[in-house]
Amino acid sequence: MAVDSRFFDEMEARIPRGGVRTRFAPSPTGYMHVGNLRTALYTWLIARHAGGTFILRIEDTDQGRLVEGATDVIYRTMAECGLTHDEGPDVGGPVGPYIQSERRDLYGKYAHLLVEKGAAYYCFCEKTESEEDSGDWDRAADPCRDLSAAEVEANLAAGKPYVIRQRIPLDGSTTFHDVSFGDITVENKTLDDQVLLKRDGLPTYNFANVVDDHLMGITHVVRGSEYLSSAPKYNLLYEAFGWEIPTYVHCSPVMRDQHNKMSKRHGDPSYEDLIAQGYLTGAVLNYVALLGWAPKGERSEQEIFSLQELADVFDIAGISKSPAIFDLAKLDHFNAVYLRALPPEDFARIAEPYIRQSVKNPAVDAAAVAALLQARCEHLTDIPEKVDFFDALPDYDLALFTNKKSKTDADVSKAMLEAAVPALEALPEWTQEGVHDALIGLAEKLGVKNATLMWPVRIAAAGKQVTPGGAVEICHILGREETLRRLRLGLERLSA
Ligand code: GLU
Repeated sequence: MAVDSRFFDEMEARIPRGGVRTRFAPSPTGYMHVGNLRTALYTWLIARHAGGTFILRIEDTDQGRLVEGATDVIYRTMAECGLTHDEGPDVGGPVGPYIQSERRDLYGKYAHLLVEKGAAYYCFCEKTESEEDSGDWDRAADPCRDLSAAEVEANLAAGKPYVIRQRIPLDGSTTFHDVSFGDITVENKTLDDQVLLKRDGLPTYNFANVVDDHLMGITHVVRGSEYLSSAPKYNLLYEAFGWEIPTYVHCSPVMRDQHNKMSKRHGDPSYEDLIAQGYLTGAVLNYVALLGWAPKGERSEQEIFSLQELADVFDIAGISKSPAIFDLAKLDHFNAVYLRALPPEDFARIAEPYIRQSVKNPAVDAAAVAALLQARCEHLTDIPEKVDFFDALPDYDLALFTNKKSKTDADVSKAMLEAAVPALEALPEWTQEGVHDALIGLAEKLGVKNATLMWPVRIAAAGKQVTPGGAVEICHILGREETLRRLRLGLERLSA
C-alpha cells in the first residue's frame, strides 16, 4: 500500500513550533481522581509558567470504557479549577480534532507509514497480548514479523483481518530520559511487539498518544509513572518516524497509604467527592500541587499558593519521583486556611446553602450565622450540624449548665438566668452591642466573672455544649422573643 507523502507533509506543516505546548489527555471515565487532577494541574502549570499553550485532548479510543456524560465531568472540573485550555474539542485550535475517535483515519495512515518504514508489520495470526506479556512467545520465530511483501499482499487481498504491530529490534537496548527519573535503559528483548492498530482499525492508546503528541506539537508529556515502562517503545516509534522526542515528566502515584495507590474502587475520594464533602476547590488544588512537587529557594517554606502564584514559581525540577501519600488531615488544614481567608461576604455566600440545610427559619440571618462560623470551620459540610440549634432548641441535658471553668452549677445557673431575663427584657433595642453591654453590666453588678453569667445564658439559648459564637452573638441572632423564651424555659427546667 503506497503512502501519499503530501498528506504527511501537510500534517507536519500544521504543527505549531517554538513555544512550550503541553496537553492533558484524560480518558472519559466519569470522574476525576486525585492523581489525574494533579497531572492536569502540573501540565497546566508547565504551560502557564512558560507562557506556552495548554491543550485538552480527549482519549476515547478505548470504546469499551466509555461512560455517558464523562467528558462533561472533565470540562466542568477543569473550568471549576481554573485550568483553562487554549486548544481543545470545545474551543478548537490549529491541530484538531482534539478527540481521538475523530482522528481515526489518521492513525491508520501513520501505522501504514510505519509499515513502509519497516518499523511495524501486519500480523494476521491470533496471538494475544497475554501471550506476549507472558513471554511464552518467541518474537524471533514469529512468522508474521517476516512475511514477504507478496504474502502480505495476498493476505490483504483475501480480506484477512489483521492488526499492525510495532517491530521492536531483536537485540540492543533503548534509553529514554525522564525529568525526575533520569535516564532509563531497557533491553529491547524485554519489550513486546505491541499492537498499534487493532482489527477494527482503531489505534491502541500506545500508538495514538505518540502520533497525537507529535502532530499537536507537544513539547512536555506529563503523565502517570504507570507509563514509564512503555516509554522505550514510544521512543522507538518517535525514532522510526524521525520525530523529535518530547520531554517526559512522569509523576509518581498518589497513595492512600504506604503500599496502596489511591483508588476510586477502594472508596478513595475523587475531586468531585472532595467538593461534595465540603472542600474548597482552591484548597484541593493547593494541596494537590504540593503532593509530589515542592517549591525551591525563598519559597521553599511557603505552603499556601494561589493558582497564579503556582504558575509563577512552578518548576519541573521540583517534581519528586517518590510517591506521595494523600493525607485528609492535611487537606483539612488547607481547607480551614482557605475558608478563613475568604472575604466574609464570599464565605457567607458559600456557607448559606449549608446553613439553610438546618436553619429553615427565615428570621435567622444566615450572613450573621456565617460570620460566627468562618473562623471555626474546616468543612462546609460540618455547618448544618453546628448551627441546627438556631432553628430548634435541642432537648438538652441540664448537666450542661455545670461547668468548672466558668464556676457554674445548676443553682448558680438558675440564679444567673433569673437575673439575665429581666436585664434583657429591659433592653430598648435588640442590638449585639446592647445585648453585650447588658450582660457585661449585669455580671459586674452581680459581682461574678463574665463567664459565670455567659455560660448558662449560652447553654439556655443554644442547648449545646459547643457552639460557634458566644452567648452575645447567639442571643442577638435568635432575636429578643426567641432568646427570652429559651432563657425562661431553661429557668423553668432548672427550677423544676
Ligand atoms: N488517556 C491516558 C490516561 O487517562 C493519558 C495518559 C497520557 O497522558 O498520556 O491515563
